[in-house]
Amino acid sequence: MPKPWGPTTTAIHAGRRFNPTRAVTTPIFQTSVFQLLENREGAEFAASVEPPAFYTRWGNPNQSEVEAVLAELEGAERALVTASGMAAFALVFEAFLKTGDHLVAPSAIYLGTEQLIRRWEAERDLKVTWVQNTLDQGEWEAAIRPETRLIWVETPSNPTLALTDLAAVAALGRKHGIRTVADNTFPSPIHTKPLDFGIDLSVASATKYLAGHSDVVAGVLAGREADVVACWHLSKIWGPTLDPMAAWLLHRGLKTLALRVRRSSDNAQALAQWLLWQPHVARVDYPGLPTHPGHVVAARQMDKGFGGMVCFELAAGLLAGQRFCEALEVITRGVSLGGVESLIQHPASMSHLKTAPEVKARLGITDGLLRFSVGIEDQPDLIADLEKGFQAAAGAR
Ligand SMILES: *Cc1c(COP(=O)(O)O)cnc(C)c1O
Repeated sequence: MPKPWGPTTTAIHAGRRFNPTRAVTTPIFQTSVFQLLENREGAEFAASVEPPAFYTRWGNPNQSEVEAVLAELEGAERALVTASGMAAFALVFEAFLKTGDHLVAPSAIYLGTEQLIRRWEAERDLKVTWVQNTLDQGEWEAAIRPETRLIWVETPSNPTLALTDLAAVAALGRKHGIRTVADNTFPSPIHTKPLDFGIDLSVASATKYLAGHSDVVAGVLAGREADVVACWHLSKIWGPTLDPMAAWLLHRGLKTLALRVRRSSDNAQALAQWLLWQPHVARVDYPGLPTHPGHVVAARQMDKGFGGMVCFELAAGLLAGQRFCEALEVITRGVSLGGVESLIQHPASMSHLKTAPEVKARLGITDGLLRFSVGIEDQPDLIADLEKGFQAAAGAR
């Protein structure tokens, strides 16, 4: 293949060999099963990995096409798409952990991943060491035990935007023969390719930036051939298969990934700087701000920007956070992220309302914290909307 292509050429063309038709846009192969040309073909497909024309739980041209693109974007030998990000994570756990193993993971982590880990703790006797300060390499090193089998990182993390030094953690894993996995949902391969830093597997919720239009739920894992094939075998047995229509939508979203992500990140950088000067803001967390504790690491391992996620804290706390969200018109209230539209979340009154205070403290969730997924809208419109929010919040004191 003529390489290396840039990310947009890759996204548009890297999966072309899976389109057997003359249609410029690959048709949606909305079929569960494919016609066999001879009996022997059935036997061959049944024994092969991800045949693209056999049975859709095993493979489908729309899945294969988008997987080829994702593998190329991540710099991986192979990729596998799944019915959600969590399905991909569950496959990785099942493929590479067994009862009684030890896992190292950051304490501020995506809630679904934490729940997966807790379930393994309760039911599979998984031992877990939670790393509190992900920037402290000594803490990662001290967490390693002879029975450690997996190191999980998430950078920048959800929801606190904490950074982890991927190269340092990958080197630690290699030194001890431990597999390293990075949840690459927030940066997407436009900003960070974990495999370039020596991480073994890059996993993500493709629901977010990769698909990018808040219209599909999907997941991906990418890495070495043998690792991804091991996960494919489990996917074939359990069946968290990505529907052909969803795979097609994911591929369509990927064609504009680089354009969308860079626009979101440019907006986020500008808005983070603007938020710093607003009188009712107590704190702004954005890896692109020199004041962010992870800025040096972010500048080293993030390319072309620092992502579209900004967290900021309203000094007046809970009620101000609620009023702020209610006053917005362009920025939509919602729990997801990474779409073309800006979304805002107030964890204290929404996702974490029922969470115990000590857990919230550990996760860095304060009463006035807002998590802002900056979309690709026009900057002046976003600023005007935020100004409305500040006016409403000012009355909450
Ligand atoms: C959304 C999200 C997930 C889970 O992905 P789904 O597609 O919703 O299953 C995992 N990690 C991070 C960082 C996320 O934001």
